[in-house]
Amino acid sequence: MTDRDQFDVFVIGGGINGASIARDAVGRGYTVALAEMNDLASGTSSAATKLVHGGLRYLEHYEFRLVQEALSEREILWAEAPHIIKPLRFVLPHHKGLRPAVVLRAGLAMYDYMGGRRLLPPTKTLDLTKHETGKPLKPGYRLGFEYSDCWVDDARFVVLNARDAADKGAQVHVRTRVTSVRRDAGGWLVELDGESSGEGVRRTIRAKLVVNAAGPWVDDVITGAMGKNGSHNVRLVKGSHIVVRKLYDHDRCYIFQNADGRIIFAIPYEDDFTLIGTTDEDYEGDPKDVKISDKETDYLLSAASEYFAKPVTRDQIHWTYSGVRPLFDDGASAAQEATRDYVLKLDGDAATGAAINVFGGKLTTSRRLAESVLEKIEGVLGKKGAAWTKTSRLPGGDFEPLAFDAEVRRLGMDYPGLPSPMIKRLLRLYGSKARVLLGDAKSVEDLGQHFGSDLYAAEVVYLVEHEWARTAQDVLWRRTKQGLRVGAGDVARLETYLASRK
Ligand SMILES: Cc1cc2nc3c(=O)[nH]c(=O)nc-3n(C[C@H](O)[C@H](O)[C@H](O)COP(=O)(O)OP(=O)(O)OC[C@H]3O[C@@H](n4cnc5c(N)ncnc54)[C@H](O)[C@@H]3O)c2cc1C
Repeated sequence: MTDRDQFDVFVIGGGINGASIARDAVGRGYTVALAEMNDLASGTSSAATKLVHGGLRYLEHYEFRLVQEALSEREILWAEAPHIIKPLRFVLPHHKGLRPAVVLRAGLAMYDYMGGRRLLPPTKTLDLTKHETGKPLKPGYRLGFEYSDCWVDDARFVVLNARDAADKGAQVHVRTRVTSVRRDAGGWLVELDGESSGEGVRRTIRAKLVVNAAGPWVDDVITGAMGKNGSHNVRLVKGSHIVVRKLYDHDRCYIFQNADGRIIFAIPYEDDFTLIGTTDEDYEGDPKDVKISDKETDYLLSAASEYFAKPVTRDQIHWTYSGVRPLFDDGASAAQEATRDYVLKLDGDAATGAAINVFGGKLTTSRRLAESVLEKIEGVLGKKGAAWTKTSRLPGGDFEPLAFDAEVRRLGMDYPGLPSPMIKRLLRLYGSKARVLLGDAKSVEDLGQHFGSDLYAAEVVYLVEHEWARTAQDVLWRRTKQGLRVGAGDVARLETYLASRK
């Protein structure tokens, strides 16, 4: 075993939690490696509603610690990644099935002031009979509330955390499964199988401390790779979304409360679509096989049709996706009541080999979760550098939160031969790194082979070289959402192109 195979910290899982922990740890001076068995963000972290939010409804479950932490993360994360994170206004139409208006107003005032809002605009009351957000709704809605949260490109949030970790010296292994984690001489022997070990070859790495951030698979890692019997810590709760052609023209998101007390969102998505979700139901199967059921589809269609003037129908569905929330099992009876807060459990110590198991969490609190994990790591391995991520930038995010539009204009001026929608899309995905991708291109002809929509080889090459993309799925559904726009022939051409680069 060479020095290259010995680390302070080994992270299992390349979702948002694993990537954030690896980034924070390497930035503090620990040697770090991470292994992801599939693509980065191929688990829950690309299947979210994609909100950086306090979670208005968690207030009703008295999850004040979580809401407070999540609210204050909104502007911290927006500043960290002003390309992939943007503010979003939410419209809550009031009706007689909801809490009285005065109670909602008080809840929203609390939401506004609990979490250090600086740039996000405050809550306001709307007259839906006059306001443009009332127009797509059924007649009869008069009073509405508009409040702020943020939106994040979840899969890119993971990849940018992993990219920054790697830029700071972490080893990031994709398509590499951790098959065994065994204690050895006050540390761990971690066995890897996959791309980084070579086909069919096992590679062993030594680590002083292991972090199990395997999301929905966290119990499987404990019982399988770690060999501990009968561990049950997470409750798997499925959530599905449908994507339909754009239902309305303004840029606000709706939050609708249904007759069963649950809420769904209708969110402007990828310019031409509306995203509707989510459901909440207990899940028993393998997390990788999760997909929307007819019952969930009907639920989402009917919940949205309760509010929109034009019913939302099955034939409007363009795409669906589902994910599994790995919630800490707190014994709550209803899936939507299970805590959304995270729980960290330390097993062992520096003498025996320590492991930290991560249960639950949200995209929104991933940075704070990583800081909490780092406190535990410091307790075992001793302190190195100070906490640093609160004022940091993710790759490409080196501009001010309110400067996104100005950055789009600047990029457009530098690349006048490229279509403006493409300029905006690239800035949203890559921020200042869009310039690395575009190089000295004068027009789309300079960007190489075309794969449909406005996807060209230059972007694909960037994704392969800088963002661990390997397959057409990685490119079309996680690094970008071009999958919504390209045809089967484009996908086949992209697959051939990627295979030819191996
Ligand atoms: C429907 C839905 C909506 C949501 N909406 C929001 C939202 O709007 N806002 C918000 O803040 N949060 C939201 N969340 C929560 C958020 O998405 C999750 O908390 C978060 O993505 C979990 O990340 P993770 O890293 O723990 O898990 P994952 O993203 O699943 O990552 C775990 C990774 O570990 C890998 N892995 C497992 N076993 C091994 C092994 N043996 N070796 C190597 N790798 C392994 C897996 O392949 C996987 O990629 C939502 C979740 C769902 C399901």
